[in-house]
Amino acid sequence: HGGNSSYDLSFKILLIGDSAVGKSSLLVTFISNSVDDLAPTIGVDFKIKLFTVGGKRLKLTIWDTAGQERFRTLTSSYYRGAQGIILVYDVTRRETFTNLSDVWAKELDLYSTNQNCVKMLVGNKVDRESERVVSREEGIALAKEHGCLFLECSAKTRENIMEVPSLLEEGSTVVK
Ligand code: GDP
Repeated sequence: HGGNSSYDLSFKILLIGDSAVGKSSLLVTFISNSVDDLAPTIGVDFKIKLFTVGGKRLKLTIWDTAGQERFRTLTSSYYRGAQGIILVYDVTRRETFTNLSDVWAKELDLYSTNQNCVKMLVGNKVDRESERVVSREEGIALAKEHGCLFLECSAKTRENIMEVPSLLEEGSTVVK
């Protein structure tokens, strides 16, 4: 894709979820081994990451709602052309999980018209295991319900963070 031959595949990835679940932290953690400098988040922000998986050079453009989740309903333009949507909740706050199933998943069904879009449900902050209120099994069940891949991780300890590209690669083989 694209006239620029510096990558083989290009993805637009969205991060969705309630305020303070760790979307920005996941973005920073995921991007931190790239050369990009982080800009302050104003409006919809995005970061570009180039990396190689399975011999293919991937370009990820990751969009962060950057506080717009306060307005709850994002416009369809935010979703347009997205190949990957990462739905994030905080395993220590149940409302962030129920909001995903009640609000975000419905909005996603409404706006993400790309049938090949890879959806991933991510339970963040597993480093705070003693405060966990949403079980792994509940996460798996919600992911199944909405046809999402599933991952539990911690932006703080980086646990499972590097699973993201491999899951997207798995998705890209579905697309291609
Ligand atoms: P956003 O509003 O969804 O973008 O959430 P932020 O990335 O701003 O994170 C909200 C708060 O949660 C911040 O204080 C982060 O330091 C903290 N946080 C994010 N990820 C983790 C994590 O995996 N573990 C822990 N313990 N705290 C986290």
